[in-house]
Amino acid sequence: MDEEEQRRMAVCTACGSAYAARITSDGTVQPIGSTDGCRCGSSEFEVVGESTDVVRREE
Ligand SMILES: [Zn+2]
Repeated sequence: MDEEEQRRMAVCTACGSAYAARITSDGTVQPIGSTDGCRCGSSEFEVVGESTDVVRREE
């Protein structure tokens, strides 16, 4: 079974580059295709955009 993930836009807090990112079940923001973090060297990201696409599934 897949772990619940959200896909969101995130921007690097250091340089402002935008990435498509996934939010893992533990809250980690991980840019898709950039598992080492931003190419500027930062690994801090801020999720941006509306939260209307958040879907929580009740167990
Ligand atoms: Zn950056």
